[in-house]
Amino acid sequence: MQKGKINVQTENIFPIIKKFLYSDHEIFLRELISNAVDATQKLKTLASKGEYKGELGDLHIEVRVDKKEKTITVSDKGIGMTAEETDRYINQIAFSSAEEWVSKYKSEEDASRMIGHFGLGFYSSFMVASKVDLHTRSYKKNSKGVKWSCTGTPEFTLEEKPKKQRGTDVILHVADDSTEFLEEHKILELLKKYCKFLPVEIVFGTEKETKKEKDEKGEKKEVTIEKPRVVNNTKPAWTRKPAELSDNDYRDFYRELYPMTFEEPLFNIHLNVDYPFTLTGILYFPKVKQNFEVQRDKIQLYCNQVFVTDSVEGIVPDFLTLLHGVIDSPDIPLNVSRSFLQSDASVKKISSHISKKVADKLDELFKNNREDFESKWDDIKIFIEYGMISDEKFRERAKKFCLLKNTDGKYFTFAEYRDHINATQTNKDKKVVHLYATNQEEQHAFIEAAKEKAYDVLVLDTPIDSHFVNMLETELENVSFARVDADVMDKLIVREEEMPSKLSQEQKDKLKPVIEQNLDQKSFQVSFENMSESEQPMVITQPEFMRRMKDMSVTGGMSYMGNLPDSFMLVVNSNHRLIGKLLDEKDEALRDKQVKQLIDLAMLAKNMLKGEKLTHFVKRSADLM
Ligand code: ADP
Repeated sequence: MQKGKINVQTENIFPIIKKFLYSDHEIFLRELISNAVDATQKLKTLASKGEYKGELGDLHIEVRVDKKEKTITVSDKGIGMTAEETDRYINQIAFSSAEEWVSKYKSEEDASRMIGHFGLGFYSSFMVASKVDLHTRSYKKNSKGVKWSCTGTPEFTLEEKPKKQRGTDVILHVADDSTEFLEEHKILELLKKYCKFLPVEIVFGTEKETKKEKDEKGEKKEVTIEKPRVVNNTKPAWTRKPAELSDNDYRDFYRELYPMTFEEPLFNIHLNVDYPFTLTGILYFPKVKQNFEVQRDKIQLYCNQVFVTDSVEGIVPDFLTLLHGVIDSPDIPLNVSRSFLQSDASVKKISSHISKKVADKLDELFKNNREDFESKWDDIKIFIEYGMISDEKFRERAKKFCLLKNTDGKYFTFAEYRDHINATQTNKDKKVVHLYATNQEEQHAFIEAAKEKAYDVLVLDTPIDSHFVNMLETELENVSFARVDADVMDKLIVREEEMPSKLSQEQKDKLKPVIEQNLDQKSFQVSFENMSESEQPMVITQPEFMRRMKDMSVTGGMSYMGNLPDSFMLVVNSNHRLIGKLLDEKDEALRDKQVKQLIDLAMLAKNMLKGEKLTHFVKRSADLM
């Protein structure tokens, strides 16, 4: 037996490793299994090159837990190591990489940021084990078994010990403070988390399977067999060619990724890049509507089929973090901090590439089957709007397929919509005014008023639409947007010179204080407009700019705006017959009643008459009749 001392700079790194990644002890299993997978894949490569001529046999990796012995064993049938290799790779290389890792991250204030990042390797075993044995035999001809053992001090032993099978067993003697890892359900949970899609079969324990079989007499009966439990799918959909996969395969894979989600995805994008970096993956557009914030962090990041993390900000463009699915790339540097990741040039390239792929796919869907695309639009528009707001390149691409929907449920591209309303909604300054509603129910009276003038009204009802509209006003030429209740119809789209007024300035000055006296909402501003006689006598409007700024502040941006009071206008139609009549009314009490009634009607049309005020209105209506 050889005894040795690992060449150490940091006197004892094991306690540091242990303490350091306290919340993250579980990654030991991922690290050991990754090594076992690597060793297996290396052997396959050697065999395919003809450098290994022996039998490959069944190459599955096995994980065993022995509660009595308090051990966890990971066994592979990969390339194994000779005594000399064990000394080089385990005592020297693995150790120095662990030591480097510790010195690098000891200073990291936020250790949790490193969670899920590679780099610790074999020595992470000491986070849960008080002693680690490694029993290995190389694939090379005439190799002898070797046993390496270490108790978490820099001292180790290395001896010859016969081993029948080629490959490596790593045996962890679980420390007293880590016995939770001796529970079968715990190990199974970790295997499901990190190893679900590893390329080599991982076997853990056994499971029962019930099958129907025919006995000698040809009668059917149920038989239960005990078989090895394979925890992973070695060929997940993203590693296969798109041509091999049906819509059903993609849907099945979605269910495999999110067993707890019952909604079907809308469609998917299969990513497959091999130049200038390697990246594969499948992104799904999920069905989400209003509350998109809660849906984040559904994309899983893999590195050669090993699960790394499900927080991908910085790697995929911000708006795409709302998607679901997987991304697998060996080219994303994982053992670095997040801030580094975000400024890394290759990560930026990956990010913009994904954004382009998504835009191409949407464009293709739009071109190939517009009807289908329209049927999905309401569910995907929030991604596209968010993408257009936050990603300039995506914005340019999306202008071709981004749709606008009107209150009749018809869809238009930007160009089509402009053609649709150009003749009717261009104002005297040559701006094409796009009218929109944010709530079809509440703004019904205003939508109807617009329709009476043969105007078209869009539906823009997502929480980010105020930002979206703002962006479109700068992007599209000679276009402005106004919500249907932003002003009275004649003012929303001013086409000719003003209409003449039936009231003189003197009459208006006389009427204004009467209206103000009878207006409960003292913050409302009263103004007169010369509208057509057929319009309503009074209308409550909410000027576009202030309202939009306030809406925008709710979903990000200027938070101070959110506290501002809403600003409302009470617009009096100076050409309406009833307004003229008010001036002639000699009975002041009756006149005040009539004014209140007209105000309440305007409130009602804006969905603002509630509670006590509504009761008063109902009573007064009966009185007046
Ligand atoms: P890394 O895997 O990042 O290289 P590790 O500390 O995990 O670092 O392992 C160090 C080296 O030990 C590996 O590169 C490999 O050569 C060797 N090794 C570890 N586990 C095995 C194994 N199960 N079979 C064969 N070689 C192994």
